Amino acid sequence: MTDIANPVAELRVALAGIVGAEHVLTDPALMEQYVVDWSRRWRGDAELVVRPGSTDEVAGVLRACSARGVPVVTQGGNTGLVGGSVPAAGGDPLPVVLSTRRLDHLGDVDDLSGQVTVGAGATLGDVQRHAAAAGWHYGVDLAARDSATIGGTVATNAGGIHVVAFGMTRLQIVGIEAVLPDGSVLSHLAGMLKDNTGYDLGSLFCGSEGTLGVITAVRLRLHRPVGRTSVALIGASTYAKAIDLMSSAVDPSVRLIAAEVTDEQGMELAAQMNGVAWPLAQRHPLVVLLEVADGGDASGFMAGAEQIDGRTWGLDDDADVVIGLDASEQARLWKFRESQGEAFTALGITHKLDVSVPLPSLAACAEELRAIVGAWPTMEKFGVFGHLADGNIHVEMFGPDADDLEIDLAILECVARYGGSVSAEHGVGRAKAGELHLCRSAEELAAMRAIKGAWDPQGLMNPGVVFG
Ligand code: FAD
Repeated sequence: MTDIANPVAELRVALAGIVGAEHVLTDPALMEQYVVDWSRRWRGDAELVVRPGSTDEVAGVLRACSARGVPVVTQGGNTGLVGGSVPAAGGDPLPVVLSTRRLDHLGDVDDLSGQVTVGAGATLGDVQRHAAAAGWHYGVDLAARDSATIGGTVATNAGGIHVVAFGMTRLQIVGIEAVLPDGSVLSHLAGMLKDNTGYDLGSLFCGSEGTLGVITAVRLRLHRPVGRTSVALIGASTYAKAIDLMSSAVDPSVRLIAAEVTDEQGMELAAQMNGVAWPLAQRHPLVVLLEVADGGDASGFMAGAEQIDGRTWGLDDDADVVIGLDASEQARLWKFRESQGEAFTALGITHKLDVSVPLPSLAACAEELRAIVGAWPTMEKFGVFGHLADGNIHVEMFGPDADDLEIDLAILECVARYGGSVSAEHGVGRAKAGELHLCRSAEELAAMRAIKGAWDPQGLMNPGVVFG
């Protein structure tokens, strides 16, 4: 029987009628994993967690919440790092967390067009394996691949380790299906590469971070597999030298698949956490990881310095380098870079910043950030590393109180001085909402608010995220 005197109980009954009672969670112990984020820095409150299993069920849930003025926080794998995937603390009424994890269908790979339609709740790893089994490659990869969902990667326009080769998530999208807060379904999944029929509505969901509606399925572009690759770790003294290595160490005839940089402290933490030895002969302030498509029998790296077109190519004779040709050696080398987030998080609650600057400014900006962070009085451990080819710097800091955001602001203001972005790939979430004005004009912010107001007039979708 519906309890109209108790709106919460009444919502619970309504949602159970849509998704089935077993997919409405109200037990605090079961809800815990949905209200605390991966970094443990963000914790919030929710009335309940609802787990729809189809687009129709998502539409029913959103209609039910909108009719009652209840906010909705959409959650995929909950690996987001800016506090956007979990609700804020408090609120009246408390929000509902809508988990997309049951929307995990994997459609047949269309071999002719090189496309596939997948549910928003399918993990990135599942989609990668599904594509590979059909002889194709999905272009996005990141360390959280086995938890992050396709919907989450679209909603944050995730980047990751292969952006230099395939671009951000935005470039992998052919079409999107999404549900607006009033329950209307926008479905554009036919997979036409050419379709100039007005506004590209699906594109608006890329980077929307749950503030416009719920992405339920995505039509993805796939790539031909790269084939054999080679991975090199190379010691570097400065960020300028690291950038130089990115072009000079690689044979100009082969394709660069990844270019990453890690610093000495981060490398040390990763080595300790994984119980492995420092991988190079000597210590260096920075270690560059390069992955290249292997054109043939050569490794793809230039061994001795050579003059080509008036420029020196190849590794110096004294370069400290290790090259991995087989899969297990490559995985060993990648582990140092891929463990960075986890290694810092193991220290406790860290400050995690993800910024980008135009590539020509990366070296100067990264050195300045090191100086700022290194001199910070409460700093205990930090790392300045990232996706070198993309001008994307991650700063991990342990020491300052979790709620002391002074150092975060100092970093973001430094990045703004270089004409950079306060979020390269993790999104805005709650963490950066107050600093969006540092890299987006008042006109841009007004246009974003107008779209938000048109599609979510009650402001129910992920309140507090992106706009603060
Ligand atoms: P969630 O964390 O659940 O949600 C993230 C945001 O998207 C939230 O605002 C949420 O409301 C919204 N959202 C989720 N699903 C939907 C949906 N279906 N419809 C509408 N909105 C939705 N990110 C990178 O870009 N590059 C990296 O290299 C990278 N490396 C990482 C490494 C580690 C170890 C970890 C923990 C995270 C890393 N991340 C990286 C961050 C994170 O994995 C990405 O932001 C990812 O895209 C989040 O996906 P998710 O499914 O976990 O989304």
